[in-house]
Amino acid sequence: MKKLKIVAIATTAILMVQCQDENTADIQPTEETSIENQEANLDLPVVNFTPVSNEVSPEIVKGLQNMGYDTVLDKIENLGNHYLVGGDMIVDKESILEAAHTDPKGKQRRFNSIMRCSEARDVTVRNLIPSINTQVRNALNDWNRIRGSFLRLRLVNGGNADMTIMRVKGVAGAADRPRNGKPGRTVYFDPDFYKGIPRRGERMRFVIRHEIGHNLGFLHTNEIDNQEKGQHIPGTPNRDRNSIMNSAGNLPFNPAVWPFNNFTEADKRALRKMYGGNAQNNICF
Ligand SMILES: [Zn+2]
Repeated sequence: MKKLKIVAIATTAILMVQCQDENTADIQPTEETSIENQEANLDLPVVNFTPVSNEVSPEIVKGLQNMGYDTVLDKIENLGNHYLVGGDMIVDKESILEAAHTDPKGKQRRFNSIMRCSEARDVTVRNLIPSINTQVRNALNDWNRIRGSFLRLRLVNGGNADMTIMRVKGVAGAADRPRNGKPGRTVYFDPDFYKGIPRRGERMRFVIRHEIGHNLGFLHTNEIDNQEKGQHIPGTPNRDRNSIMNSAGNLPFNPAVWPFNNFTEADKRALRKMYGGNAQNNICF
């Protein structure tokens, strides 16, 4: 932003100088020379905006898109450390690259309808896929360990659980959403989908954690506003590229390249806002 301002000032300076040149065309050479001399003494900055290459990488295109530029209609010219978009918008390369690796909207989001506070205090989970018992247990503990929230997930072996984890075919993971103050009823999971990939257990644990998140009331962090209904969770940042609730929708359909990190600080903050210790500040009802 700062750079952009400097560039804008510099550009304005150049334009002013150009205008001055035109206006002073009829003036006596002596005066012109004197203006030129004044300019030389002032040591004004000059920016070179000559295109250096015809190449614009996909990374640059993505970054500009994330920043809100129209990369289809607007011509993109590579000026080296800057890009000229649509003929008159200068954007510095550093900002574009940063935007290329950041989600356009990074706020933690929730469904309009979430769990009742009392329900969140004891959510029973039944796992009907014995081969992933360890991952399920770990994923539940990950949620339970977040400080400042009263959310508790409890693994049960039978009976009528609030949430059931069921095997499906061909889906990495899928979930439901809270209804009538109760958590989403089902998590769908296909362990075969993860066969042969490195760090399989951790990746399965990540996806189970994510799907449970939907059932607890979380929407995707990195969705743009008009794609899904729901609401931003107050107090969460505009960018959170490592949120566990980011959608993998824009990644290749291959879990071996998906992230599998633990909760970010903003994820934890979002949970505390939904089901936190302070009754007055809770979104749950
Ligand atoms: Zn999801």
